[in-house]
Amino acid sequence: MNKSVATNKTLQNAELICRDAGVRLTVKRKRALALLLEAPSPVSAYELIDLYHARYGESLTAMSAYRMLNFLVEETLAHRLNSVNKYTACEHINCNHAHDLPQFLICDNCQSVSEAGIQKHTLDQLRADILTSGFSMHNQQLELHGLCSKCQ
Ligand SMILES: [Zn+2]
Ligand SMILES: [Zn+2]
Ligand SMILES: [Zn+2]
Repeated sequence: MNKSVATNKTLQNAELICRDAGVRLTVKRKRALALLLEAPSPVSAYELIDLYHARYGESLTAMSAYRMLNFLVEETLAHRLNSVNKYTACEHINCNHAHDLPQFLICDNCQSVSEAGIQKHTLDQLRADILTSGFSMHNQQLELHGLCSKCQ
């Protein structure tokens, strides 16, 4: 499957996810998601503005870029990587399973990101251990930094 066919299929699924959630994947939001899906590595809000302008010839304000990104994050179509302040499309848009705690492996050399497949029981154990320590977690997203297999 080539990249644009894969993107179209993912966008169709994203529309269904939004319809089920009672929200609208507007043209702009869909374009933002398409750009995230096709970007080789996570993008910042300002990089998204540049990509959007290059692809669609329209200028976005920072405010509308953040609004679009927040929408995608809220609907779990994208994730915000807090440690690098960038956004990446969710890798599970085409999956039917429930989305667990987001976990990411971030390559510090090429900046590529993959959503790690840490087993649910491992995560549950981690959460339980942290709770026992009396720590209250606000952000449960895991971001692990290192080198991807290509960069090692
Ligand atoms: Zn995800
Ligand atoms: Zn999945
Ligand atoms: Zn790498």
